[in-house]
Amino acid sequence: MTDAIRYEKGQDNIVVLTIDMPGQSANTMNAVYREAMGQTVARLEAEKDSIAGVIVTSAKKTFFAGGDLNELIKVTKADAKPFYDMILNIKGQLRRLETLGKPVVAAINGAALGGGWEICLACHHRIALDNSSVQLGLPEVTLGLLPGGGGVVRMVRLLGLEKALPYLAEGKKVRPDAALKAGLIHDIAATPDEMLSKARAWIAANPAAVQPWDAKGYKIPGGTPSTPAVAQMLAIAPSVLRDKTKGCFPAPEKIMCAAVEGAQVDFDTAQIIEARYFTELTTGQVAKNMIGTFWFQLNEINAGSSRPQGIPQYVTKKVGVLGAGMMGAGIAYVSAAAGIEVVLKDVSIEAAEKGKGYSAKLLDKKVSRGHMTADKRDAFLARIKPTASDADLDGCDLIIEAVFEDRALKAKVNAAAEAAALPDAVIASNTSTLPITGLATAVQKQDKFIGLHFFSPVDKMPLVEIIKGAKTSDETLARGFDYVLQIKKTPIVVEDSRGFFTSRVFGTFTNEGIAMLGEGVSAAMIENEARKAGMPVGPLAISDEVSMSLMDHIRKQTVADLAAEGKSIPEHPAFAVIDLMLKEYKRPGKAAGGGFYEYPEGGKKHLWPELKARFEKADAQISQEDVRDRILFIQAIETVRCVEEGVLKSVADANIGSIFGIGFAAWTGGALQFINQYGVKDFVARAQYLAEQYGERFLPPALLLERAAKGEGF
Ligand code: NAD
Repeated sequence: MTDAIRYEKGQDNIVVLTIDMPGQSANTMNAVYREAMGQTVARLEAEKDSIAGVIVTSAKKTFFAGGDLNELIKVTKADAKPFYDMILNIKGQLRRLETLGKPVVAAINGAALGGGWEICLACHHRIALDNSSVQLGLPEVTLGLLPGGGGVVRMVRLLGLEKALPYLAEGKKVRPDAALKAGLIHDIAATPDEMLSKARAWIAANPAAVQPWDAKGYKIPGGTPSTPAVAQMLAIAPSVLRDKTKGCFPAPEKIMCAAVEGAQVDFDTAQIIEARYFTELTTGQVAKNMIGTFWFQLNEINAGSSRPQGIPQYVTKKVGVLGAGMMGAGIAYVSAAAGIEVVLKDVSIEAAEKGKGYSAKLLDKKVSRGHMTADKRDAFLARIKPTASDADLDGCDLIIEAVFEDRALKAKVNAAAEAAALPDAVIASNTSTLPITGLATAVQKQDKFIGLHFFSPVDKMPLVEIIKGAKTSDETLARGFDYVLQIKKTPIVVEDSRGFFTSRVFGTFTNEGIAMLGEGVSAAMIENEARKAGMPVGPLAISDEVSMSLMDHIRKQTVADLAAEGKSIPEHPAFAVIDLMLKEYKRPGKAAGGGFYEYPEGGKKHLWPELKARFEKADAQISQEDVRDRILFIQAIETVRCVEEGVLKSVADANIGSIFGIGFAAWTGGALQFINQYGVKDFVARAQYLAEQYGERFLPPALLLERAAKGEGF
């Protein structure tokens, strides 16, 4: 008998099962669990006559973490049959628990996500501890999987198809109060003791408990797929889903199949259907990509893999934000949200107040929706001090500069801030294009200077790209890193380079889309194929958002900077199109009223109809596959160049940075994982084909050729 699940029968004949897997910080559904659960269920069945009921709880901080991703990422297509059998075994154990003939209560002492929530669903009664760390739900879909431990089958039978789908296909998580309202749990307890006594009382009062779906006369809430109202919803559901996934993410589609097919058959058949789809997803490539990046690599980053070692953790106390424009206002908001005192400085107090107003607006919305109390909002806003005076930067241990993208202006404000802030303050620039090493020369302590590149909108975008200048010290880097985690964002660390990593790769994406338009490819096809490749927005739409004037400004600045070094930038076919759009057609983008798209007031944006006459050519149409590959390949190739040049130091930073920062297709697991999963050799061959057809920019860099020769990925 293993001790992974403690079995303790009290005088009231209630058995308390405490899941406490040895040597693990959280309980997971691995081989140890399976063996322990098998033995536990067998013992319960053997001792059933002397048992009044069962309470399932956990000795860990979380109730149960779910499937073991170390195991799941390794399952191959060749393992499909044993894996499928193993899944049926897990399901069978939980089924035996819920049909034991005794009341079973889940005493949910911590987060129960994925497999953890599936164990809870197999209990007749669910009580959760009212604690901020308790979250319930089925996030499998976010890793390209489906809830394979009966989660689809039971959620559909508990809530009905329509209400269950957001939990299953979107991975919606809830806290105990919302779970109670939604009918996911039955009760809430303030303390662990109260939870156990409530569980015991419920068992005593419900000796003959059965699951709703095992009760006589049970019907799925809302009806089966043949009920008219459900049938009507299901008629459009696949196309609504397809519009979201663009066919890139198999998991939500398989979840819908498992849910709908499972709702038309008996419980055990539904479990088999769920296991088949689960096996298909787990052995598929997209799940591998997503687990690898969104679980393992993201955890690696958050654990500090790119942070210099041996430097004590630093907690930023007071941040001075220079420039209260779009970015500065957002940086002030996320800093104050993390409890940090903020001084928000602009050229006038009015401009600074306006920047603070951005936070007030976001918070007012929260208050009006009941997500925040007025007191909390007031305390939050009190942490942001708007000012026009450098003297107010006194006491700041971090300065983040977000004034206009102008080297001389940045030099001036950073030097003034350095003089006013604490002597050891870190000075960071939010520049998106100017090399950090050059900007650092404006301050006295260049070792304290760093780049903290945020993304817009700051309150929503999860990434901050940290740029290390030539003289940036490890201590400064560590402090920048700690600050980014403090404001609950994900840091990647890159070496200084023009455009760093994200802006460089982003530029290749927009330029490629624009270049295709210049060749005469249909604008609608470019936009649609980019989205089908998995990009959240097409390259023409995003160019309008950024504005072609800004792109042009950056190009000119780069040309001037490089000319000073006796260098030039390679010509790109996109430049001629941008020049035409700016000079001939006077359509720089959305903010100016129009670009590649029209933005009718009160209406939906649509492609500028004139694009057809001015750019498209009937004989220039290329295959959809080529459009998609050009968009993904050019970004992946630029990412490899960043690795080759030492701008990127880690694969995790490349993958997470590409997805979180610029929206690189998430199904691929990131720009480098895209190459791995394509096959490095095949990727090189395809890149060479694209280079022949569309330009030398697709030529695989030497590092890629080297890796392909060795058969090594990234
Ligand atoms: P913005 O034009 O919205 O804001 C700039 C602000 O700086 C204005 O409020 C201006 O009044 C203020 N300012 C000018 N001179 C000042 C001075 N001497 N002291 C204090 N404030 C002064 O610009 P933004 O979009 O917020 O961009 C700011 C910086 O962030 C730029 O370097 C930009 O490249 C970078 N950035 C922008 C984005 C983006 O998506 N907009 C993304 C990442 C980085």
